[in-house]
Parts: sequence; C-alpha cells; structure tokens
Amino acid sequence: MQHNTARGPYKGGLRYHPKVDMDEVKALSFWMTMKNAIVDVPFGGGKGGIAVDPKKLSAAELERLTREFARKLAPVIGPEIDVPAPDVNTNGTIMGWIRDEYEKEVGKDSPAVITGKSLKDGGSEGRTEATGQGGRYALDAFMRLRERSPRGMTVAIQGFGNVGSYLARYLQESGFTIVALSDSKGGIYVPNGITDLGAIEQCKEKSGKVAGCYCVGSVCDISNMEQMGGKDISPEDVLTLPVDVVVPAALENAITEKNAGDIKASIVLEMANGPTTREADEILREKDVMVIPDVLANAGGVAVSYFEWYQNMHNEKWTKADVFSKLKEKMDSASEEVDEASKKYKVSLRDAAYIVALERLAKA
Ligand code: NAD
Repeated sequence: MQHNTARGPYKGGLRYHPKVDMDEVKALSFWMTMKNAIVDVPFGGGKGGIAVDPKKLSAAELERLTREFARKLAPVIGPEIDVPAPDVNTNGTIMGWIRDEYEKEVGKDSPAVITGKSLKDGGSEGRTEATGQGGRYALDAFMRLRERSPRGMTVAIQGFGNVGSYLARYLQESGFTIVALSDSKGGIYVPNGITDLGAIEQCKEKSGKVAGCYCVGSVCDISNMEQMGGKDISPEDVLTLPVDVVVPAALENAITEKNAGDIKASIVLEMANGPTTREADEILREKDVMVIPDVLANAGGVAVSYFEWYQNMHNEKWTKADVFSKLKEKMDSASEEVDEASKKYKVSLRDAAYIVALERLAKA
C-alpha cells in the first residue's frame, strides 16, 4: 500500500503474518506517513505484507516466496519511489534477498531500495538499538521540558524483546531506576531496583523467560527473590504498579478502559504501536497522566532507517556514535515541537503529534 509521497518516497515495513489484510496494511501505511512527518524524515508512508505463516515454511520456501514477492514489487519500489523495511516476522536476511532480487531486475547496484539490512549487506550501525534508544531520548527530552530529574524515578516495562530490553538499558544510563520487567510469560518486580540487566538478558536467553530471573552477581535464580525483596508479577499487572513511568513495549491494546483507571504512573511511554485504546486514552487524560504517544516515542527505528537509506545513497558509513547523536537531535526536536503544539492548541501530546505531522504534510 502506498499512502502518501508529499514529503518523499513511500516508506514502511513488510509484514509476513496470516492476519495481514488490505485494511490493516492501509491503516499501517497511514501511520507511517504520520510518523515520518513527526520525526521530520523525508519519507511518506507505505506498508506491505503477505498473508502467510512463515513459521510453517522451510528456509528455502521462505526465500523463494520472498524473491518472487520482490520480483512482483520491483516495478513499484526503488530508492526514490518506495523503500520497504522489516516488520513483524521479517528481518535483515529477508531484506537482503529483496535487495538482491531487485538489483537483478533493474540491473544495477541499489542498496537504498530497502532498509533494515544486516550490516554486511549495507545496513546501518545502531539500527537494532534505535527504537529503544529513540524512546529514551524522547523521555529524556520531556523530563528536561518539565524540569524533572530522572534520579529516583521508577520505571516498569511490559515487553522484554528488542525494544523493551534496549530501552531498559538506556533508561538506566539516563538515571531512571528499573523496578519491573516482563515478557509474555510474566516477570519480576523489585521495588529497590533491578540493576544487572545484562544478567537478566542472559537468564532469559537460557530459561526462555524473564520470570524467575532474580540475579545476584552472575547467579540468577528464584531463590534470590526474597533477598532482593522482589516478587513475581503477571504481564498485565506490570502496567498498574506504583511507579513513575510505565512502558507498554509489547502489543497493541495493552491499556484499555478496564485497566486505565488503575494506572498509578504519571508518565506512559508508548513504545509498542497502538498500546492504548481510545477509551483508555480519555481516562488517562482525565487523570492527567502524560502519555508520550507511539508515533513519537517509537519513531527512533524509522529515523535510523532514514539514516541507513542516506548512507547508502551517499556511499557513506557512519559510526554508531554518529548515528546516535543524529538520532538524539531528531528525537529532541520532534519532542520539543510536539510539546509546543500541545501547549499552543491545548491538546494532548498525541493530538499535538498529529497536528505537527499534518502541518508538515499540508506545507509539503
Ligand atoms: P519483540 O518480538 O522483540 O518483543 C516483544 C516482547 O513482548 C517479547 O518480550 C514478548 O514476550 C513480549 N510480549 C508479547 N506479548 C506480551 C504480553 N501479552 N504481555 C507482556 N509481554 C508480552 O518485538 P519488538 O521489536 O520489541 O516490538 C515491540 C513493540 O514495539 C511492538 O508493538 C512493535 O510493533 C513496536 N515497535 C517496534 C519497533 C522496532 O524497531 N523493533 C519499531 C517501532 C515499534
């Protein structure tokens, strides 16, 4: 689906999932137009996918399917036309096949036709960490704007995958105290703070879950729970803990009218796409909770996708430090502009983010 090119080539992810359908893809491509405008990267919105369960395919079938898809897409994509990226169930390897097949079709080297490539295929440094890092920069920016310090502020994170795990590390670097983490199977709550996130990642890798990962030194075991003053927690309960910041970083519709009233945090940092329903958003607004909306909070990924495209187009290779410093600039100015619009029009940060995007689109 190609939604809008007012500000640049269509850009959005390719999703492989049995539930992919035209309506979903249309909605997601609209969302990309908004997100790209908010972080001010010169792209419009696009999205694509195949209704398939890739877990049921062999590696060879997945590659054949992807290459055929790329041949069909070749006439309508290109570095200055439409630049896809990974999404649910697609990854750097799949992006590499699409680049390869596209290049065969057009008969020339064209790394910028797709982003999210692995480093060896022309990907960018920092792309894996980008969404978590971008979320941290956005939260840090709002802390500065509200003249609040992260020292002593507690954070609970639902979802400990790519986004949640990097975000936890970076928020800790900023001075926040991470007190709760969970994946789909449950999690841990340690009111005094979870310090060794590296040990938890290793523990999750070994055991397949965050639950039970009470780490003292390099020993992670449920028997440390009491000593740490911690307790097990369900994925849902993470959102209603008595903390300063809650972060839905797993799935859509995590905060609904059923649990919004129980949220005790003063800040919700939306790292997942669409984690708050409309009804819940209203409840949070009445409670005066600051919701940093998904279209801003998780836009770090697409910002670094733009950096990857730029490096490919100009035959440059940036260091991770360069990428992060440019990402910080983008997230800082997007956060400041959204905050300004929210004050000017007296609306929520979510409405303000859409106002910023629509103003940019109208101007273009
Ligand atoms: P991921 O698959 O790496 O991790 C998802 C995590 O959520 C896992 O830890 C999983 O166990 C957990 N989870 C699943 N269901 C859960 C539940 N009911 N309760 C608690 N935890 C649950 O995915 P990701 O890349 O980290 O993406 C997370 C969210 O961020 C998604 O909504 C995604 O659309 C959004 N997002 C991701 C990126 C990116 O660059 N990866 C960019 C923008 C938005």
